[in-house]
Amino acid sequence: MPKENLLGYTRPQLESMFAEMGEKPFRGRQLYKWIYQVRQNDFAAMTDLSRPLRDRLAERFVIEPLQLDHRARSEDGTEKFLFRLADNHPVETVLIPDTERERATVCISSQAGCALACRFCATGTMGLIRDLTVGEIVGQLLYLRHLYGNDCFSNVVFMGMGEPLNNYQNVVDSLQIMLDELGLGLGAKRITVSTSGVTPKIRKLADTGLKVRLALSLHAATQEKRVRIMPIAETFGLEKLIESVRYYANQTRDRVTFEYVLIDGFNDTMDDVLALSRLIEGIPCKINVLAYNPVPGLPFERPTDDKVDWFGRQLYPRAPAVTVRKSRGRDIDAACGQLAARKNGRGVVYES
Ligand code: SAH
Ligand code: SF4
Repeated sequence: MPKENLLGYTRPQLESMFAEMGEKPFRGRQLYKWIYQVRQNDFAAMTDLSRPLRDRLAERFVIEPLQLDHRARSEDGTEKFLFRLADNHPVETVLIPDTERERATVCISSQAGCALACRFCATGTMGLIRDLTVGEIVGQLLYLRHLYGNDCFSNVVFMGMGEPLNNYQNVVDSLQIMLDELGLGLGAKRITVSTSGVTPKIRKLADTGLKVRLALSLHAATQEKRVRIMPIAETFGLEKLIESVRYYANQTRDRVTFEYVLIDGFNDTMDDVLALSRLIEGIPCKINVLAYNPVPGLPFERPTDDKVDWFGRQLYPRAPAVTVRKSRGRDIDAACGQLAARKNGRGVVYES
């Protein structure tokens, strides 16, 4: 029988595992620290556990980190990591340094592929392969810390592959490990969950009290326009979606972020500016305007830089806060929405 991988076990799960083994539950806390804080994958080195206990653990379990397949560094310092999961599927993580502000953001994946098929997104063309496990989600961060040390990133965004709220329980468990001071010890304000708009799960996440930041991928300010690029908008209409985002902001007493990818000739006019500013009225928020990154084979174009600046300038006085983001890592296909793998007869080939 293959040994079970303990990477991804939450603190309560480890505690009850020890209870079942007839051990004291506080052993769970010790093992938890070894796994996530110290990143020790060898039971033999866990010196505060008795030798017989270490042996028993090693007989039944392993602590198996993610396996790297390929990595690429962009001219601007952005680095992309392509992992190969135990069942051979690819998943990507992007490390984005910000030298001016002396911080770095990691963009992590929550699913291999994605079922939601947004028309502009490379990951959306893959369909859903499968949900990532808790160990595979947290494992992306552990890998980077192992490679570059604990301070190699300060912020985490769920903006890689997949829709995090469609892998809800695993994402919540991984958030718990990230937030736990005996786990990864990250602050809630430093973690952003980005969603295409799974309305009921936005409310559910608000009710957990985890208080992580929320980003909504809006991209269009009317229902009619949004359904044209995001099929999920047919299931969860804009009005109820915005209500759920307002609820999230209220429950967490934090401002939310609206992501607005500017697509040439689609959502970039004065009418769009006005519709957007009306839609978000009264919600404590920030709007991130981002130029579309073209995906080969998809019928959307990037607007000119002037157009992006114009849009930002029009929006600015009509919204609480606006940022206009220049995309990073374009030369290594690590930009938003460019994370995808192409399948061929032999299995999987990466586009980079
Ligand atoms: N599924 C989640 C998180 C992953 S996508 C979501 O949709 O929010 C992360 C962000 O990249 C989203 O805002 C998404 O709309 C955006 N995105 C997807 N394709 C893009 C592209 N080609 N150019 C720019 N942004 C894109
Ligand atoms: Fe999935 Fe997000 Fe891409 Fe839409 S934009 S297909 S929800 S990963």
